Amino acid sequence: MSAMALASARDTAFATIDGLTGLGLPPTPANYSVWHSHISGENPGLSRSIQDLVARAIPLTDELLSELWRRFCAPSSDPAVVSDASERLGRVMANIAETLSGAGAATAGFTEALGRFGDEIVAAVRMPDMAVVMREATRRMLSETKRMVEHSRGAEGGLRGSSREVQALRNDLEEARRQAMSDPLTSVANRKAFDDRLGKEMAAAAESGGDLALVLLDIDHFKRFNDSFGHVIGDEALKLVAHTLVASVKGRDLVARYGGEEFAVILPATSLAHALGLANGLGAAVKGRRMLLKSTGRDLGRITVSLGVARYRPGESPSDLVRRADAALYEAKNRGRDMACDESVVAAGARAAG
Ligand code: GH3
Ligand code: MG
Ligand code: MG
Repeated sequence: MSAMALASARDTAFATIDGLTGLGLPPTPANYSVWHSHISGENPGLSRSIQDLVARAIPLTDELLSELWRRFCAPSSDPAVVSDASERLGRVMANIAETLSGAGAATAGFTEALGRFGDEIVAAVRMPDMAVVMREATRRMLSETKRMVEHSRGAEGGLRGSSREVQALRNDLEEARRQAMSDPLTSVANRKAFDDRLGKEMAAAAESGGDLALVLLDIDHFKRFNDSFGHVIGDEALKLVAHTLVASVKGRDLVARYGGEEFAVILPATSLAHALGLANGLGAAVKGRRMLLKSTGRDLGRITVSLGVARYRPGESPSDLVRRADAALYEAKNRGRDMACDESVVAAGARAAG
């Protein structure tokens, strides 16, 4: 960490503790984390909530900060990781507090010595051996100053260690969060990440009135593929499909493993027609990949997929949207697989049947 970054981290740490003290709140790990995120500006949603509470003159209590922590700062759903992290954060806080109180005591001693030095100089002016007294007072003052400088160096080292520990903690939590949100086989987003993201994108689309589309994709005759080549190669095929999908989307689009051999793609700001075009492209990309057995070079043929596309309707629930995409996927299977259908054909089919 550079000297400038260290100074800035230290300023933010001081400002966090000052802020909590000003609010009459103890610097517990949760309070510290909330206030630190707020003043460092790294969590705009959190800052907006705090500004809103302040504007409405709602007192910021311990309970309120705990609630903000759960909503904006809680790092992972894994309780073991969180409790380990909060324990470590507690230790770091204790170290910082110790360093700061040590620095406080040393500063108080130094100020006292300075005061004595001043008194002695005033008194010495009236003494016959003024030069001797002055020399002695100056010698002691120099030694106090040296001690103070050494103490400050020690305090800086302590804070640097604490700041390294906070950074390591942040990296661990980031990694735990990443793991909790991704599918271990294919490394794409898992079902939980999909649910979280779909909820957020639906809320954003409802607010902005913008488009949002969902594609559900299911591998065709995958049971047959597994039966022919075994589950291990089946797993490889799943990875290939996942990687092909990821390589075929961009920006805010999210590819997730929805379940066994089904994937979902969330497409923000995408119309139904555009999403159907994209779904056709995804199907073609998967089909375009040849699968060769590494050991023998044997050609395992091509994998095809069926896809269903639906567009978000403001006010509906995530399961309503998923159900329509699934109905469109079912229609694609019915029509012979290896194709994409959008929800309009389901509605048309239902009308024709009714
Ligand atoms: P359809 O075209 O109608 O979708 O036929 P299908 O055979 O793909 O459908 P079905 O639902 O009958 O079978 C799904 C298969 O997917 C069965 C299961 O063995 C396989 N599968 C699900 N998850 C995994 C996995 O993680 N690894 C492997 N290798 N296979 C999986
Ligand atoms: Mg299936
Ligand atoms: Mg299938």
